[in-house]
Amino acid sequence: MQIHNLGFPRIGARRELKFSLERYWRGESTPETLLTECREIRKTNWQTQLDEGIEYLPVGDFAHYDHVLNTSLLLGIVPERFKGSSEENELDLEFRIARGQAPSGCQCAASDMTKWFNTNYHYIVPELSADLDIKVNAGRLLAQIAEARQLSDKVKPVLLGPVSYLYLSVVKDVEKLSLLPKLLKGYQEVLNQLAASGVSWLQIDEPVLGLELEESWQQAFNTSYGQLEKGGLKLLLTTYFASVDHHLELIRALPFDGIHLDTIAEQTDVTRFIDALPSSWVISLGVVNGRNVWKTDLVSVYQTLLPLYRRLGERLWLAPSCSLLHSPVDLAQELKLDEELSSWLAFARQKCAELALLKSALENENSDAITLYSAPAIARRVSERIHNQAVQQRISRLQPEDFQRKQAFNERKIIQQSALNLPLLPTTTIGSFPQTRKIREIRAKWRRNEISDLQYQEYIRGEIADVIARQEAIGLDVLVHGEAERNDMVEYFGELLEGVAFTQFAWVQSYGSRCVKPPVIFGDISRKQAMTLEWINYAQSLTAKPVKAMLTGPVTILAWSFVRDDLPRRQVAEQIALAIGDEVADLVAGGTQIIQIDEPAIREGMPVKQSLWQEYLDWATAAFRLSAATAPAATQIHSHMCYSEFNDILEAIIALDADVLTVETSRSNMALLDAFEQQAYPNDLGPGVYDIHSPNVPDVDWMVNLLAKALDYLPPERLWVNPDCGLKTRGWSETTSALENMVLAAKALRAQL
Ligand code: GLN
Ligand code: ZN
Repeated sequence: MQIHNLGFPRIGARRELKFSLERYWRGESTPETLLTECREIRKTNWQTQLDEGIEYLPVGDFAHYDHVLNTSLLLGIVPERFKGSSEENELDLEFRIARGQAPSGCQCAASDMTKWFNTNYHYIVPELSADLDIKVNAGRLLAQIAEARQLSDKVKPVLLGPVSYLYLSVVKDVEKLSLLPKLLKGYQEVLNQLAASGVSWLQIDEPVLGLELEESWQQAFNTSYGQLEKGGLKLLLTTYFASVDHHLELIRALPFDGIHLDTIAEQTDVTRFIDALPSSWVISLGVVNGRNVWKTDLVSVYQTLLPLYRRLGERLWLAPSCSLLHSPVDLAQELKLDEELSSWLAFARQKCAELALLKSALENENSDAITLYSAPAIARRVSERIHNQAVQQRISRLQPEDFQRKQAFNERKIIQQSALNLPLLPTTTIGSFPQTRKIREIRAKWRRNEISDLQYQEYIRGEIADVIARQEAIGLDVLVHGEAERNDMVEYFGELLEGVAFTQFAWVQSYGSRCVKPPVIFGDISRKQAMTLEWINYAQSLTAKPVKAMLTGPVTILAWSFVRDDLPRRQVAEQIALAIGDEVADLVAGGTQIIQIDEPAIREGMPVKQSLWQEYLDWATAAFRLSAATAPAATQIHSHMCYSEFNDILEAIIALDADVLTVETSRSNMALLDAFEQQAYPNDLGPGVYDIHSPNVPDVDWMVNLLAKALDYLPPERLWVNPDCGLKTRGWSETTSALENMVLAAKALRAQL
């Protein structure tokens, strides 16, 4: 039996890659230094995996920026606009594609970036066109294989397969699949070079097999793998993030030498695969969750695996469910977690060790060591600490009416109008105002106990007073308190909730050098105390205009955390929703008239398979409604989402039943409103009128124009005026000018109505 890994986190235990990259981008280091530092990271990663007992080391899982971009570079697929300066170094070309700029050379619109299936990782979308010109350059991959071979003779390159690569790309001028033949020539060349370099196993990732593929894409698998000559290579078809049971018939006819199945993401019928697949195939089972932080209960895995091992013998391989890219690196660094909590956890390095433990248990048919190891994982399930009777009782008593506001939108609208008395086309913002360096410094001092709670609160109050005064001067209609007290919209609430823990180093790559450190939801969730009330009440005390309170919604808190695996996600979402709902009730009691519950992450939590979307959207939107339903009709509930792909989930967005929804649209020139028109979005809508990602100040006419377009879709009584998203990454001067112009645009248009 072999144990192998599909990929290891690239960022390094202390985010070494992030810091190396950023030094290089700032011009503080040379390409040689960056390359050396990356080589060090790879070496450490392989050594760690070897030390923990991994046999086949993954190679090619490392990337300076992204592995899909690596695949493009391997095939020499570079969009035309980046081809300008011929003498440029390869590294800068890579960064220019990813970020639009690099230390050397010109600026250029970066390639799009989008979410890697249902993870929080983002990949660089390959741009293909009819004149696709492939020039294989396997130098980098071969060099890394050579590096790895210095540590072990069992190396297994990882390659994103042609069908998934094509599926995930954008193709402007022709039908995507028409490019497959050219692409396959490139892949053939890569396979030839790998075979020539003596590679034995190649991990070929085809995660799109988790989707319900159309006939033509299924056919693409036959075409591709029917045609590719393996040379001496053995191909491990690698799937993850979903079961591929629905494609068994397709898969069994393909000339692979083995398959990797994710046994964690969804139920999968492993025995059916074993029965159906050729008896020469290796069966690699992903039995350790590659996307979560929990220690595996190896005893129960052992019990499932033992009969399979007896049947398969050395044909059985073990691995994490997916690449460990989505796990934090090393639990051993977390010295501040209490002993009990940390005994429940396993990060990438520990997950490798778990596989080694399992292997030895299976080979010796002796479960003593894993029994000892798994004791804390088993203890977690019955721990007092994760159970809160009061919360469980509230959940069990939930009734359908708890998920609904008492009045329908039309009635609420009338009541709110008379309570709020807002002008037509009311102006507002999405919540955050510039999060200046000063604010972050003060918070850091407070966290280090260098200033007292009182001093910190005084400082934040000062910031709130400042943003209120600025908003009044700008002339906005609905004000916000500015979110100066929040580091991050999920972390802030996580720290105030019972059942949530924070780590020091559990970073996971989001894209490029950007990492996130998700909270760990380990137990039943409840609110210790009011979380926002004091700040909002203070802000409201300073102005006669309504101040809109800001909360993060349950689905977003869930999506951006590591979530306990002993409860269905929907139930965890309900628990969070109850806590947020309590905050809503407190705010209402304190006199708040408008509350925004942000849900930017609803879309990202969608399962890989489209047939599972509806079920997810049903509970996700229900959780949102549960958090909002404590608000009486007179309280106006806003929600916000920062993306513009709504067509396929509009029904769910309507189901949120927010009184006002603000969305990102300025970059698409309101194009997305088409979707809203066709399916008649019934409530108030604030399509963003300017892009907050750029420091440019939008001019009045331009915004008047956009708003006029919006009025083709929406009656003026239902249109709000706001930027695309929060302003925390912007500076004050551009923010003030942009909002002044936005207010002028609203006024100009009002005058015409
Ligand atoms: N209220 C948040 C802010 O303004 C919303 C951020 C988001 O949508 N990601 O920063
Ligand atoms: Zn946003």
